[in-house]
Amino acid sequence: MIFHRPETEKRLFCPGPTPVPLKARFAAIHTSPYHRTDEFYRVFINCSEILGKFLDAEHAPLILNGSGTAAMEAAVVNFTEAGDRVLVLNCGKFGERWQELVSAFGCEPVICAAPWGKRPEIEEIRQLMKASPGIRAVFLQGTETSTAVRFPVREIAAMLRQDFPEALLIVDAVSSFGAEEIRLKEWGLDVVVACSQKALGIPPGLSFLAMSERARRRFSGRPRFYFDLRKEAEVQREGQSAFTPAISLILALESVLESWQQQGFSAVLERAATLAVAVRLGLKAMGLELLAEQSPSDALTAAYFPPGSDGKALIRELRERYGMVFAGGQGQLAGRIVRIAHFGGADPADLAAGLLALEYALFPDRFPSDGARGAAAFWAACYPLRSGEADSAETRR
Ligand SMILES: *Cc1c(COP(=O)(O)O)cnc(C)c1O
Repeated sequence: MIFHRPETEKRLFCPGPTPVPLKARFAAIHTSPYHRTDEFYRVFINCSEILGKFLDAEHAPLILNGSGTAAMEAAVVNFTEAGDRVLVLNCGKFGERWQELVSAFGCEPVICAAPWGKRPEIEEIRQLMKASPGIRAVFLQGTETSTAVRFPVREIAAMLRQDFPEALLIVDAVSSFGAEEIRLKEWGLDVVVACSQKALGIPPGLSFLAMSERARRRFSGRPRFYFDLRKEAEVQREGQSAFTPAISLILALESVLESWQQQGFSAVLERAATLAVAVRLGLKAMGLELLAEQSPSDALTAAYFPPGSDGKALIRELRERYGMVFAGGQGQLAGRIVRIAHFGGADPADLAAGLLALEYALFPDRFPSDGARGAAAFWAACYPLRSGEADSAETRR
């Protein structure tokens, strides 16, 4: 009666943790090498160099122990002072997190908000900056994962660099890294934060922080110890870290980064973008309304459940009946939306099955004859008919 894969092999469609490739799993269970050896320094430096290339960072990004929020906190502690006026784009759960973090460390946030599922226009950001002189830093997401909205980081950076050159631009690219382009040097960003369990598809526990030359000249005078980025920058040049690194995760990281390098980073991004288009088509074909029509992300897609449905129960059913783990809504969207990730190692066959199961759970009366509209639209977008197939489909009609 229950055919799905056992507990350890559930299909993950949530935006993190994401499935860990077999090669990375093996890399991680390699007997932990001692980290104070040339052998390990080489692995560490290789990882930060590849990360730096993908982020267009002028200095190799730092590798930190801790989930994404650890690197977010490190950014706040190392680049702001208590009492600083800062601007926070708060359009969802993770914008809220920036706001809570900067407030916890005594900054005075000016909030640029938009209803969840939308984003502010660049002009609104410019006006807010003008109205609150002396803003020292701007905090935002690449993609706001709670709503699947993508922010125009490049355009925002261009506006800030031109009109507010003194403000540091600090980007939480945790869900965008590996799905959307983020170019630190070319775009004029100052701090970019990413972590392990999103597109990279390695277990949670590592975060990354890249900083510009301008940021390195703006270290705060705050007290700090574990996440002292001055100290980390000093030792990580040599492949060391101030404290014991998460060795097994770094071995897994190297495996995935090397595979990305082999495919070409643009191919990794293109794959996410293609799957993003196909998932959006699939969800719409089944009749669902997307949240982020205005500015959709390539990392993940969010859609409203039809009015009157019990979203939490549906997500539980998908997990328990089919072994498929979808993400629901957070905060004010709890129970109202489903979120599907399509970055990193996301697999078209798994996604097609996921859309089929979702449609079956939502609209059982369409089955067996008239269902699977979503999966069909998704599949055809992933694998467009080749010319011969298109002709014969035409003849049959
Ligand atoms: C997942 C995520 C984070 C990090 O959360 P952790 O639970 O600390 O890893 C931060 N920002 C965004 C946009 C995310 O999607």
